[in-house]
Amino acid sequence: MYTMRPAEFDYHAPTSLEEALTLLAEDEGSRPLAGGQSLIPLLKLRLALPSALVDLRRIPGLDEISANGGLTLGARATHRSVAESDAVRSGWPALAELAAQLGDPQVRNCGTIGGSISHADPAADYPTMLKALGATVTAKGPDGERTLAADDFFQGVFATALETGELVTSVTVPALAAGTGAAYVKHRHPASFYAVAAVAAVVSVEDGACTDARVTVGGVTAPPAHAEAAAEALRGSSGSEEEIAAAVAQVPEALTGARGDTYASGEYRTHLAKVLAGRAIAAAFERAAA
Ligand code: FAD
Repeated sequence: MYTMRPAEFDYHAPTSLEEALTLLAEDEGSRPLAGGQSLIPLLKLRLALPSALVDLRRIPGLDEISANGGLTLGARATHRSVAESDAVRSGWPALAELAAQLGDPQVRNCGTIGGSISHADPAADYPTMLKALGATVTAKGPDGERTLAADDFFQGVFATALETGELVTSVTVPALAAGTGAAYVKHRHPASFYAVAAVAAVVSVEDGACTDARVTVGGVTAPPAHAEAAAEALRGSSGSEEEIAAAVAQVPEALTGARGDTYASGEYRTHLAKVLAGRAIAAAFERAAA
């Protein structure tokens, strides 16, 4: 039976990363708390029963966003701060647009990029875009710091490469080279705004021809899938309607095991992925030419 009252837990509010890591190491049943937008509902439904919560909100510097060549997003950067950051909007506009479309204002005000990627909901927005952009995730734990490619970090439904006691500290996104455009397009669930299906496309264009491309589909499989054949079909193309349609036809190849639920079947999600891929690729070509 569902209850709206969490089971009892201890609460810690450390003021440094080291203190947070020590608290997590001392108690294997403890969990970090960031914006609480995913964890608090789990506590209320008693789907998560941590012995203690280690609140990351008082740790200074963990919410910083900085651009110095690449973009570094502190784990506690909220979706709203990503959406409104001048650095993100000018250098990585597709990422700012993604954050602006995520959830509702409360979710964007409280929810964080570190919480979102650690939770790894198969319908979440960031994992798809971060994989397409070739981002890396930095995590710190009892054994020190390590940096993982987004491709290795996301492992499945609510599954990441994080180990017990490890905290995501930041996400780094490489700079987009000249002539490169990126776009993210999603079909959002009308109630939650989570991605029913979503596509991130990144294309690099030189002398009118595509030299490199990445087409990554989220919401359909977990983790998000690179549509390699579609990306390969784009290389050498000029981004014409016909060429994009030919690439889009290759998208389903990457989506074996498409997820279905009461809202959308796997077949419908696969159909959506094709439609969204067409839009995302066209938008990425436009941006690359701008
Ligand atoms: P929390 O809920 O605090 O934590 C989530 C999990 O991550 C917990 O297991 C926690 O222990 C762990 N964690 C948190 N921070 C760290 C860290 N630094 N290192 C290691 N582990 C950590 N998401 C989308 O992508 N798209 C949407 O459209 C969308 N719509 C939403 C609509 C609603 C109504 C709600 C409630 C949520 C929605 N979300 C959506 C999810 C939202 O993005 C959450 O913010 C996110 O999933 C969790 O982030 P958080 O900061 O709130 O983390």
